[in-house]
This record gives sequence, structure tokens and C-alpha cells, in this order.
Amino acid sequence: MTTDTPFLYPELMDVVRLFGEGYDCTHRFRREGDVFYNTVEAGGHKYSFAETQPCADETEFKRYAKRFAKLALYDALRAETGRSMPWGALTGIRPTKLAYAELAAGRPFGPLFEKFGVGPENIALVSRILRAQEGLYGFSAGAADLYAGIPFCPTKCNYCSFITADIRRTGQYVDDYLTALEGEIAACRGLFSSLHSAYIGGGTPFVLEPRALERVLRALQPFVPRGTEYTVEAGRPDVFGEDKLALLQEYGVTRVCVNPQSFCDETLERIGRRHTAADTERAFAMARRYPFGVNLDLIAGLTGESVAQFCRSVDRAVELAPENITVHTLCLKKGARLKEEESRLQEEGVSAMLAYAREKLTDAGYEPYYLYRQKYMAGNHENTGWCKPGHACAYNVGVMEEIRDNLACGANAVSKKLFGRGARIERVGAPKDIPSYIARAGEVAEKKRALFLREG
Ligand code: SF4
Repeated sequence: MTTDTPFLYPELMDVVRLFGEGYDCTHRFRREGDVFYNTVEAGGHKYSFAETQPCADETEFKRYAKRFAKLALYDALRAETGRSMPWGALTGIRPTKLAYAELAAGRPFGPLFEKFGVGPENIALVSRILRAQEGLYGFSAGAADLYAGIPFCPTKCNYCSFITADIRRTGQYVDDYLTALEGEIAACRGLFSSLHSAYIGGGTPFVLEPRALERVLRALQPFVPRGTEYTVEAGRPDVFGEDKLALLQEYGVTRVCVNPQSFCDETLERIGRRHTAADTERAFAMARRYPFGVNLDLIAGLTGESVAQFCRSVDRAVELAPENITVHTLCLKKGARLKEEESRLQEEGVSAMLAYAREKLTDAGYEPYYLYRQKYMAGNHENTGWCKPGHACAYNVGVMEEIRDNLACGANAVSKKLFGRGARIERVGAPKDIPSYIARAGEVAEKKRALFLREG
């Protein structure tokens, strides 16, 4: 893909990726007065588009230039390939954020989504999410969410692109990592006026031995008043244990995540998980002996999994009746992008899986309450969190909608400070790999303090 307007290139490439990166096309842009002209040449055809839009300043001009260029390229590639995407040309922004921006400007969001080519079922999904977020969505100055990351796992799943490592190779770092993490957490003192929620994520926090896990819980304890929503993404069922669950209860945790991904043993083996569906059942039953809300994670589009196998996993998750079920779509790792034919088959399969999940979960009384999308998602779909009424996870809403400061500690964690009710967000990121994090955690904590103590 080539363009004569360099600042549009990243946006245009996002659109090309939707169609599988195999399209050789040329884009040209020009502006005359209030009219934006985009021309796309692809497959020997020429597509021309013109949109009229007055702009108040350069920022607004760039915003509309990107929007119209993306739309033009999407329409051209749709015409060339005969394929439409579930979220149309909407890339690079969370759908709910765009919907809230439209509503804040006094417009319904539906017409803009239609213009982007978003399908009616996804427009309806966003409407349902906005309804479910009523009472949870809103900026509150000085309020924050607190996160601690544990980048260790029992083994590395073959589809995983997170920065996490097999503890059999990285076990020697655990002690130093926890020392660095304790220091970074302690340095959060005084950086917020009220804590909205806390979250220990991974990786797989439960891969830690109880004494190590307790170090993290103890470090967070001074910041997390009893009764605060407090999640531990315990993780894979093969590392669940009564001793760890009892510790969570002692430290006031209110919510745990069990991550089966699938209830099909063949799939679990194929993707390199070291547990079975029976382990998930045992872990779930164990968690149910404690007063926690439970989230189960599933993934649509796992390698080799059929639509029927995925649907059985959804059925079983619904039968277990956890408070939350999160339905992810497989994110293809770099280097594992699919050819057009494979991609088309996968699109159809994943679309059927997600349609089934939406219907089944809705019938069982679950509501979608947050969603996000990533690059390279199978079939260009989304991840959606579902909850039973009254059980939306405030942390997930806060972090996805960026309505509160987020103090994130640990390797690869990114803290966010909101200015002007979220009009501007500044970030401090920590190194991704474990040894670099251990070496630089103090420096990251200093930068974070400087940012969070700065006014406006
Ligand atoms: S358990 Fe989760 S974080 Fe760990 S390797 Fe597997 S998918 Fe990645």
C-alpha cells in the first residue's frame, strides 16, 4: 500500500490489515476548500470519493482527513474483495469511546457507526454496553484504579502474545521481581484521593507459591480498604489451591478469574495449556467455596476448534453460572497472519461462534458491559465482558473507558493519568522484560510520582 500523504499511512495500513495485508493498492489525497478527495487504485480499478467537511483547526482537519481516507480505502477494498468487516472501517479507537464522544457532542452514535460500515448487531451491542455502564461511567477527579502485574505462567500457551514467561525458565527472578514490585506499589502512596478498585493480573498470579502471592497482597493492603472491588486474575486452573484462595479471602479480595479458554480437552492440549476441562471444573468448585464473584474466560477461534466445540464451552460456562463470562476472540500473533482463503473461513467460523455466545448469554440473563478490540483479531471481531445484572467489574469499565487514573505496577504495566476529564491522558510505561523491570522499577516509580503529583 502506498499513499502520497505520509501522516495517513498508519491509519490506512490498519484498514489494509483488516483484509489480510495481501492488497496492493495506491492511495492519493487532496483537499480543496472544505472538500476532502480520496482516490484508491486497487486490482486495476479506480475508486474516487469526496466528502465536504469544514474544519475549525489543524487538529480537526487531521481527524477528518484520517476518517475519510480510512472510509475510502475500506469501501474500495470492500468492493474489490466482496468482503465486509463486522466493525467496518472502525480501527484504532474503542467503539464505546467513539460512541460516548458522539453522545457528548449531542448526536446519536448510530449514524456515524453506520457510515463506518459497522454491522447492525454490533451497533446494538454497543447500545447494550452503554446501558449496562449507566451508573458506572463517569469521571471522578482524584479517584484511581490500582493494578499489579505478575508476568509468570506455568507454561507459555502457543497463541499468547502477552509479555509473560514460563516460570520454569524465569523462576530465579521471582524474588527480585516481587521486591521491585513491592517498592513500586509503596511509591503509589499519596497519588490518589480514593481507590475505586484493585486488580492483580497476569500472566498467572496463582503460579506464585502462597508465600510469594502473600507478598503482593500485603504490599497492596494499605491501599485497598475492605469492601473495595478487588480482583485477582488467578488464571489457569492447574495452579488453583485452597491455600491461595484462603489467602485472597483473608486480604479482602472480592473477585477471582478462572481462565479455562475452552472446555474441550483436545483444544487445550493443542494450544499448549497444561490442564483439562476437569481441572477447570475443580478450580471453579473450589472458588465457589469462597465468597468471591467469579469470572470465566473463553476464547473464540482457537486453533483447530470447531464451532460446535466452542458452543459446548459456552454452554458449560453458562451452566456453571459465574457472575462474569468474558468472551475473547483469538488474537493472531505476528507471523501467524492468515492467507485470504484461511482468513475468510476463520471469519465465518468466529462470526458463528460469537453470534452463538451472544444469544446464549443473553438468554441466560447476562449483559455485555465492556468491549475492546486489538489488532490482528481473528475475523476482526472483539472481546466482550458479560455480567449478571449488578456484577459488572468496575475495574474493567474504568480501564477500558479511561474514566479514572490507573496506577499500574509491574513489568510492561502502563500507568495513565487523566487531565481535563480525560481530554488528555499521559502515560508512564515500565520495561517489558523482567530483568529490565527489576533494574528500573525505582526509576519508573519516580516518573509516575512526578506525573501523578503534577497539576493540570
Ligand atoms: S496463561 Fe494466559 S498469560 Fe499465561 S501464557 Fe497462557 S494465555 Fe498467556
